[in-house]
Amino acid sequence: MVLFNAVATLADFLAGEGSRLKKRAAIAEAIAAAEAEDPGGEGSGLFAQYLAGLPFAEADPRKLNAGGALLTKAMLKATGATDAALTAAYRRHGDLGAAAFELMQGVSRAASLSLGEVCAAFGAMATARTTAARAATLDGLLDRGTPAEVKYLVKLMLGDMRIGVKQSLVEEAIAVAAGAEVGAVRHAVMLEADLADATRRAFDGTLGEARMRLFHPLGFMLASPVETPEEAVERFTAKPEKVAKPKKGKKAADEAELDEGVEAAPVSAEARPVEAFLEDKYDGMRAQIHCGDLAEPGRVAIYSRNREDITESFPELEEAFAAVLPDVDGPMILDGEILAWDYKDSRALPFAVLGTRIGRKRVSNEVRTQVPAVFMAFDLLYAKGELQLEHPLRVRRNRLETIVEQMVDRVVSPFAVDEREKGRQQVMFLGEKDAGVARLMLSPSRLVESAEDIDRAYADARARANEGVMLKAADSAYLPGRRGLAWVKLKRELATLDVVITGAEYGHGRRATLLSDYTFAVRGPGGELLNVGKAYSGVTDAEILELTESLKAHTLEDRGHFRTVEPLIVLEVAFNNIMRSGRHASGFALRFPRILRLRTDKPVEEIDTLERVEEVYLSQVDRPVES
Ligand code: AMP
Repeated sequence: MVLFNAVATLADFLAGEGSRLKKRAAIAEAIAAAEAEDPGGEGSGLFAQYLAGLPFAEADPRKLNAGGALLTKAMLKATGATDAALTAAYRRHGDLGAAAFELMQGVSRAASLSLGEVCAAFGAMATARTTAARAATLDGLLDRGTPAEVKYLVKLMLGDMRIGVKQSLVEEAIAVAAGAEVGAVRHAVMLEADLADATRRAFDGTLGEARMRLFHPLGFMLASPVETPEEAVERFTAKPEKVAKPKKGKKAADEAELDEGVEAAPVSAEARPVEAFLEDKYDGMRAQIHCGDLAEPGRVAIYSRNREDITESFPELEEAFAAVLPDVDGPMILDGEILAWDYKDSRALPFAVLGTRIGRKRVSNEVRTQVPAVFMAFDLLYAKGELQLEHPLRVRRNRLETIVEQMVDRVVSPFAVDEREKGRQQVMFLGEKDAGVARLMLSPSRLVESAEDIDRAYADARARANEGVMLKAADSAYLPGRRGLAWVKLKRELATLDVVITGAEYGHGRRATLLSDYTFAVRGPGGELLNVGKAYSGVTDAEILELTESLKAHTLEDRGHFRTVEPLIVLEVAFNNIMRSGRHASGFALRFPRILRLRTDKPVEEIDTLERVEEVYLSQVDRPVES
């Protein structure tokens, strides 16, 4: 029997250990010890899963339903503390688990809680019919825990252990503990999304028997930016040594970890013609659709880039993809972009329109009709019982085309549904006129020829109101969770504006004492200054320091956190687009503004005008309005 105390003890050690290698060795040792204590049992697997901060396996749809409110109540009971004491402890630590530990300092109890008992309690909480029943189970669990156990039980239930351990490190440790290949462990976890099962398989030598399960998100492959069509061409024709520049230093290591690794160059050693597919870069919401499952025909799941299940927010897609037939089309996972679609003009509506639906759970007929969602498919991750990731893009693309062609006419759903039928499975079509519209589209894609070709395609994409273009190496595998060099994105700045700083604000964290957020203006028709945006990214630390001094010296009005300043400093700013907005005096706002440089060379008299802002605004194919 493996005790939860083993998780708590190791977690405490890991929280104070900086070395990744030492962490991995300690985790591996503990997993091996758990296996020795419970040979062939569930101990080692649960140990790995809990250490990774997962109350349930990712493939397990159960939810604890234990949010901060329920946990706080249970903690008050378990610790006997007052509301005020708990609040104060929480303020000190910024973490409920650590607060519980502090409040339980007087408690001395022998560790007795087993991992199996924790697992059973979590299961009971997930299926509890009432909050009272869930609370009772939770109380029972906390009442048995030592202070350290309660600390980590709470953290685990909140899904964040805060011990500097990512799942990928636990996967490595499992491999070390069981003497298995780390690649094989990762592959099994990717297929089955169950760290505990993968641990069991690693010890049993059955990692190779893991089979794909639908309804858990795979990692999304991402693209690296390029500035020009020429740079894009170079990426796909250059020799690998030139392409794959490993980043150095700690920051680079952190970034690499964030993106779960930087891949090697996708091209062969020989310089050769461009072998890349070109597609529009859509400004929608990246998503993965799982459907056509043999065991659960009609079930559809849609996942967002941050692995959230967003199916509820797009019922028209769920209804449409429910028509994918397991025995004809087969189970599949599609990668693509959810777009708000203008059926009249056959093009995507601006992101700002789709944005109104994000996070919305109840989708009314009005929303369905005004912001119709489609899925623009551009990759195939799983089809007909076979994971497609390792096939080159040209093969995946071919298969995707065949599949889409075969089912596109069936993947339809009406603009509006009969409200009275909601809640029942059946969807009513509202008369003949609304017999359903296509919800699945295939992103047009073709092999690219040259830099000029990319240039034209970019202009065409912008004319269709898309963001830019994507280029994807034709022979590249799909690397889940990677921002690699096999995919690049080209989205040039619209234009830049030269503006003057009129206000400054103190930053946060490291920048709390520095004026690091700048409000800036353009010149109005009467020579007056009109604010048009606010930006904080793009200046170096040294520049911020310098700007802080100068802005303090030229403050017109000090309102504490914010200061209005004399208009003396000119900046060049870039942005994704301009929208009409009541937020600033100019009547416009820049979306995602970034400071490109300080223009010490430019006098304030020569900054851009409101007229120029209007011109850039009008040059945009779609003109977003702030929602
Ligand atoms: P970014 O958000 O700028 O890092 O760009 C990556 C995002 O581009 C992806 O997550 C997708 O949402 C989006 N995207 C738009 N069109 C495509 C496409 N044709 N292929 C791949 N990603 C695309």
